[in-house]
Amino acid sequence: MDFLSGINTIKGVGPARAALLAKLGIRTIEDALFFFPRDYLDMTPLNFSQGNEERAGTFPCIIVDSAVDKKSKSGICITIVPVFDGKNRGHAIFFNQPYIKTNFRRGDRIIFTGRVRKNYGEYEIINPEWQRFDELSNEFDRICPVYSLTKGLSQKVLRQIMKEILKNCNAPEILPDEIIEKFNLIPRNVALKNIHFPKSFDMLEKSRERFVFEEILLFQLAMAQTRRELIGDERINRYVDIDIKPILSTLPFSLTPGQKKVIDEIISDLKSGQNMNRLIQGDVGSGKTVVACIALYLAAKNGLQGAFMVPTEILAEQHFMTLERILAPHGIKVDILKGKMTGNIRTTILNNIKTGRTGVVVGTHAIIESDVDFFKLGMVVTDEQHRFGVKQRRELIKKGHHPDIIVMSATPIPRTLALVLYSDLDISIIDTVPSGRQKVDTYVVGNDMRKRVYDFMVGEIEKNHQAYVVCPAVEENEMNVSNVEDLYMRLKKEYPDLKIQVLHGKMKNEEKDRIIKDFLSKKIQVLISTTVIEVGVDVPDATLMIVENAERFGMAQLHQLRGRVGRSNLKSYCILISDSKEEAARSRLNYMMKCHDGFEISLKDLELRGPGEFFGLRQHGFFELKLANHIKDLKLLENIKMLAVDIIERDKLSLKEYKPLAQSLNEKIFKRI
Ligand code: ADP
Ligand code: MG
Repeated sequence: MDFLSGINTIKGVGPARAALLAKLGIRTIEDALFFFPRDYLDMTPLNFSQGNEERAGTFPCIIVDSAVDKKSKSGICITIVPVFDGKNRGHAIFFNQPYIKTNFRRGDRIIFTGRVRKNYGEYEIINPEWQRFDELSNEFDRICPVYSLTKGLSQKVLRQIMKEILKNCNAPEILPDEIIEKFNLIPRNVALKNIHFPKSFDMLEKSRERFVFEEILLFQLAMAQTRRELIGDERINRYVDIDIKPILSTLPFSLTPGQKKVIDEIISDLKSGQNMNRLIQGDVGSGKTVVACIALYLAAKNGLQGAFMVPTEILAEQHFMTLERILAPHGIKVDILKGKMTGNIRTTILNNIKTGRTGVVVGTHAIIESDVDFFKLGMVVTDEQHRFGVKQRRELIKKGHHPDIIVMSATPIPRTLALVLYSDLDISIIDTVPSGRQKVDTYVVGNDMRKRVYDFMVGEIEKNHQAYVVCPAVEENEMNVSNVEDLYMRLKKEYPDLKIQVLHGKMKNEEKDRIIKDFLSKKIQVLISTTVIEVGVDVPDATLMIVENAERFGMAQLHQLRGRVGRSNLKSYCILISDSKEEAARSRLNYMMKCHDGFEISLKDLELRGPGEFFGLRQHGFFELKLANHIKDLKLLENIKMLAVDIIERDKLSLKEYKPLAQSLNEKIFKRI
């Protein structure tokens, strides 16, 4: 089986299904194999009394009466199917599936899978999946995969497709035996089969371990290799002029003690005999940009160019304006490079960069296009949105002249974890925020308060402020969590005068940029979105952040969301809506009310949820860790890092048994897409 052949070569996949699968990013057989389930159903049969609302269970039932349809007040068709689970009576309830009742006759034996709740003393299972007893062969899957879906594609169909692929699949091993043995891993092909259709929960765990290991190893290899190949140790670019008084005197504020300390660390790097390779951490709003700006100033004053790479065009524009305002008065020409630029403008800028007229260039990954040549790039700054920008960083470093490196991390990460994740970087922490900032008042409320929350929002809008609303999902979904599209319709109906817009990751970049611009210029008052707005943008008049199904987010992420408001001297609020009764979720949310320090929050997250939380934050990026949120402890991370460094230092990638690994590294990380 050729992993790279199109998904349409699989039995049961015609053009229509291929198009739906493409929406999920599945174009080839390999894409499908690595489209891992987002969850699993335990199909061990239960009674309703053993079910609950938090997690789906499996309930074999007999249909005891004919199904009836009802219309709800809002016009939704509700189908009620009376069932008996062997002990209790109950109802299977379906929304808006008027034809479904034709499937059920009195006496039919059906297995329902779903969440169970009690309504006025009666058990209800809501929108369950179902299958007939007699459809089940003897080898039915006790553990059933649950995939992320798109409209028009069902779990049943996707499972069938996966089964079909796995039937003939024999994935080659990429790790050498010595590593597999030393770390007690299962073979890749076995892991692949079991990650989709686990034979047992134990095998599922082992399969995850195997892929987590692989992802993190590749990432660490990339870091180690980049350091050795492209950065080196010995300083080539000399810094003679390290006077920062001129630039300090033109800043509109004086630096905080934390900023001063980090700048001192940078200067001592630049004076040393070694290249700088530094991670700058700081809480949201701690003022990282100006610190990078001062480093870029020094580079320019010493005859070097600087590049500042950011993940989105909006951020590029914001940073460009900031840097130009600060640097231009000192005779440093700042330019911006964006994806859409064409023709003369682009040619002129490229020429400026090549001849050295440009002192500092700010931009998106347009900076790493192959036709961008620098005169003498000596300072590379990347503002890390996706934590694993290792690929882009590498491309930019390649364009440089023994450049010094600054990486800025968007989310505060506990020191212990940062040391491992960013293995080769020295770490600086800005541990103060500019004075005069107010803390963002944070509340946790139940769904019953929703109306009041949104009325409060209207009050803020009437004051000419703006609001964000964040949902965990984009469209209607099987997880029963609120989604951007539905909420948009509801709020539109309820508050027709408000200017509301939606924003999510499935939109095209240009569209996203336009919407954020409209929000900045107040053409939009309320922005409903997924976590795409998590990082970076500065909208000073936004004073309210509402998070729906807040239990779905990690604390570090909630803190980052909260950081979108309270960016001026206006009083700001963050309202976390959640009905979760789960104790862990409650205590996380309550902690958010008390604590406003990003580092403390991330430390707590590390304690409660393990290091995985810090991998799972970003859903996109060139190198996306899909599984690493299952990593259990720091120790393993550290061991993998040591392994990677050892492989690179002893040049093992050139050995025969390391060839498949070297190839994977090349394909997954080093190759330009
Ligand atoms: P972050 O660390 O989240 O990237 P920014 O660099 O965007 O933060 O800075 C947040 C805001 O704080 C900006 O508007 C910036 O101009 C302002 N700022 C930065 N440093 C100071 C300071 N020392 N005093 C007052 N305001 C500052
Ligand atoms: Mg920033």
